[in-house]
Amino acid sequence: MADTPLPLEVRNLTKRFGDNEVLKGLSLQAHQGDVISMIGASGSGKSTFLRCMNLLEQPNEGELIVHGESVRFKETRHGREPADWQQVVRMRAKLSMVFQSFNLWAHMTLLENVIEAPIHVLKQPRKEAIEQGRALLDRVGLLERADYYPAQMSGGQQQRGAIARALAMDPEVMLFDEPTSALDPELVGDVLKVMRDLAKEGRTMIVVTHEMAFAKDVSSQVIYLHQGLVEEAGPPAEVLGNPSSERLKQFLAPKH
Ligand code: ADP
Ligand code: MG
Repeated sequence: MADTPLPLEVRNLTKRFGDNEVLKGLSLQAHQGDVISMIGASGSGKSTFLRCMNLLEQPNEGELIVHGESVRFKETRHGREPADWQQVVRMRAKLSMVFQSFNLWAHMTLLENVIEAPIHVLKQPRKEAIEQGRALLDRVGLLERADYYPAQMSGGQQQRGAIARALAMDPEVMLFDEPTSALDPELVGDVLKVMRDLAKEGRTMIVVTHEMAFAKDVSSQVIYLHQGLVEEAGPPAEVLGNPSSERLKQFLAPKH
């Protein structure tokens, strides 16, 4: 049987900031269509883990394999080996990130935001990028906002725009870092709806979230991080419904 490469595999990743070892050897495998929810207390390393996956941070040790292409991180006594930047750009293009704070470029219209990377990174012809961009904006319910600037849109619209921008790269994996945490409660639903649709379409996604209902309904796997280690992982019914870790039980207990 011919093995199709996994969209994403992480092996034994460590990340230190000075003396502070934030990720202590994390591994993860995402199969095509997986939705992996990552939960954990503030400071447990969730954002750092995502940022290492798309190489916004350079890990100290470990291996990252994106659709069969591997990059290894190793420290020698001379320090960290320099990254091959061409490879970093190539791999990053396959892992689109959606941030908590939307991060649309303020000086560009929504459509310009969406077509920027396809034109400049993927070298897509402008006309084709615009057609694709408009179709993606239609999909997230924002076609009529194509010529608006981010400041003229609600947070929920900006975040759906950021998702369209991430989709425009047709990434292997989409990474979401608490995409609804900065939104007013009434705007959360529309963004989650777009994410649920993506999951249904078979998009491979890794989602750091506090939305337990989303994690429970949509995920193929839930990972609970504690101080840079996986404390518990498995299907949502087990991890969220019947956790074995005392710490996770505490974490999931309703707060008053
Ligand atoms: P989470 O997303 O789970 O809240 P983070 O990944 O943001 O956690 O942070 C994990 C730890 O790493 C924290 O102790 C944080 O202070 C530290 N950290 C994160 N980014 C940096 C950085 N750029 N420089 C130094 N320390 C950092
Ligand atoms: Mg975080």
